[in-house]
Amino acid sequence: MAEAARTTGASEQRPVTALRGVGDALAERLRRLGIAQVQDLLFVLPVDYDDRTECRRIGELYPGMRSLIEGEVQLTEVVFRRRRQLLTRLSDGSGFLTLRFFHFSASQQEGLVRGARLRCFGEVRRGPQGLEMVHPEYRRVSERSEPVEDTLTPLYPLTEGVTQGRLRMLIGQALRELDTAGVRDWVPRELLEDLHLPSLREALHYVHRPPKNARLEELSARRHPAQRRLAFEELLAHQANLRLLKRTTRTDPARALEDADGLAARLLASLPFQLTGAQARALAEVEADLRAERPMVRLVQGDVGCGKTVVAALAAARTAGSGLQAALMAPTELLAEQHARNFRAWFEPLGLPVALLSGAQPARTRRSALEAVASAEVRVVIGTHALFQEGIEFADLALVIVDEQHRFGVQQRLRLQEKGRASGRFPHQLIMTATPIPRTLAMTAYADLDVSVIDELPPGRTPVQTVVVPEQRRDQVVARVAQASRTGRQVYWVCPLIEESEELRAQAAEETAAVLAEALPEVRVGLVHGRLSAAKKDEVMLAFQAGRIQLLVATTVIEVGVDVPNATLMVIENAERMGLAQLHQLRGRVGRGAAASSCVLLYRAPLSPLASRRLEVMRRTNDGFEIARRDLELRGPGELLGTRQTGLAQMRVADLMRDADLLPRVQAAAEVLLSDYPDNIAALSARWIAGGEQYGRVG
Ligand code: ADP
Ligand code: MG
Repeated sequence: MAEAARTTGASEQRPVTALRGVGDALAERLRRLGIAQVQDLLFVLPVDYDDRTECRRIGELYPGMRSLIEGEVQLTEVVFRRRRQLLTRLSDGSGFLTLRFFHFSASQQEGLVRGARLRCFGEVRRGPQGLEMVHPEYRRVSERSEPVEDTLTPLYPLTEGVTQGRLRMLIGQALRELDTAGVRDWVPRELLEDLHLPSLREALHYVHRPPKNARLEELSARRHPAQRRLAFEELLAHQANLRLLKRTTRTDPARALEDADGLAARLLASLPFQLTGAQARALAEVEADLRAERPMVRLVQGDVGCGKTVVAALAAARTAGSGLQAALMAPTELLAEQHARNFRAWFEPLGLPVALLSGAQPARTRRSALEAVASAEVRVVIGTHALFQEGIEFADLALVIVDEQHRFGVQQRLRLQEKGRASGRFPHQLIMTATPIPRTLAMTAYADLDVSVIDELPPGRTPVQTVVVPEQRRDQVVARVAQASRTGRQVYWVCPLIEESEELRAQAAEETAAVLAEALPEVRVGLVHGRLSAAKKDEVMLAFQAGRIQLLVATTVIEVGVDVPNATLMVIENAERMGLAQLHQLRGRVGRGAAASSCVLLYRAPLSPLASRRLEVMRRTNDGFEIARRDLELRGPGELLGTRQTGLAQMRVADLMRDADLLPRVQAAAEVLLSDYPDNIAALSARWIAGGEQYGRVG
């Protein structure tokens, strides 16, 4: 018992107020930084270090250095140069340095008398009279040489309302406790052995108090074994937590979808094409899951245009054929509407109505759609993510399909699961994403999901030719648009990326459309942007799909999912300002039919090195996996996964890219925790996952 109490680590449960000098006010400020327990302090990790382990000679300093110096005051004076300021001239025999203060008190000024010895720390800059430090930290010291720090000084991330000095002191206290009270190492030794990583205690001491001979470069690059130890633990916390979530989800009851009506088979037989091998494999995996009495939580990953929608439709058909309801959620109204059109074309011949729930539809239409859904009159329902987050009543929801999940995080997935709870039966979930990410990364980010990959495009596609063209040659691009429409092809023109507002984006698109319509009088130009009503958007998209519009000017609303096989040319303005994933998604709108397609990336010079690398990647390859790999290198995984929500973007030490080599070990370790040390998982989550919040059930 005593043993247990000691090993649980008293400081894991102790509030910060247990520390000396922490009253209610400070505790409140710390709480706002997510620091509630003493152990939370230990996991506030330095972003950098200062070396205050030796005093430098002034003569050796150069601008940009952060240094400790010691010297004697030669002269202190208040001067007016635009502002009132205090200047102190310091000398140590090897040179002079000016201390400059814009805020100072009378007593401070008195303390800086000629002959006083000061020890200062600050950043060296070039000033009007040689080197200087602005607002350095300093204190008076005596003639006898005083001790310097014997470890490097940690710099903590900016923490509003709590000074560096205060934080250092508190963390110092927590570190001293670490030796007596202890913080428990929840990672079993056996998992660390051949990784040659230190214990938790050693790692924490090292990162907060590195010895003066520490390799600063290694620390700054976060590649020191002490940091890797913490990164490993953090990754493990996330991984084990997601795996645990997966395990609990799979013990919930769900309905086995047997499709007694045989709708899936009938839909399949009615398609004008055969499934590709990859689609058939993914479908078989989905169907096996749906036939079980445990909820499916499966991600179908596949590049743009690989044909994910039809796989989803076949799953929906199986659900409807079992007398239950399937719902498909799309990220935008436009896509919801397109899915509704496709699904209607597939399902209505089978005698199944499809309901569309759109935010912009007239209240009456919407109400009757809602009623149909609540009364089980319709079994196939389509809407946007936003709509499903409001309270829609389903009569009997058994399958939820989420399209384009890279905009959809783990918290939202959880909320969906909650929807099924009321009935005591959990819906199956099918999540479709066009963000191809490397396998180990996928296994980490989506550890709570099963994954199917569609790694093959339907036959007969010709790869899109991509060219990179400067803005000055816009006229030639316009001529190309004319040429394409003369041959009966259709064209997308994507307008400049304007961050500020939907309003400005819409305006820019309107202007572009007007200019193009004037330049191309023989071409039928249409316009679609986020400010149009859903009905208007629908009308334009339908006209484009039917070929009545030849040139569609659009904002990036067409980024995902829109499917018009006769469109063979895409022009993207300001391509230099877009990310790889977005460019790839946009370009995926062409090259959907058998005809050769091309994509023109218009850019405005000068190109940043990063932008120019991105455009080069786009020019060279059409392979979504290759592009994702390059994207990962250029931007890092946080951006790639679109992840604020996955939790992985906010990791404190670990970085999915930098620490990628640890991932296979982390996955194996998570297995061991789940089977042999399940209790450690909650403790690790409490320590590492934001606010101690687990991905586990809400409520
Ligand atoms: P994504 O995976 O990007 O969502 P879609 O589901 O929109 O792709 O499919 C792209 C296009 O390919 C659609 O026009 C669809 O009808 C067509 N398609 C899907 N599967 C096949 C197939 N096996 N053979 C031929 N065309 C297909
Ligand atoms: Mg799609």
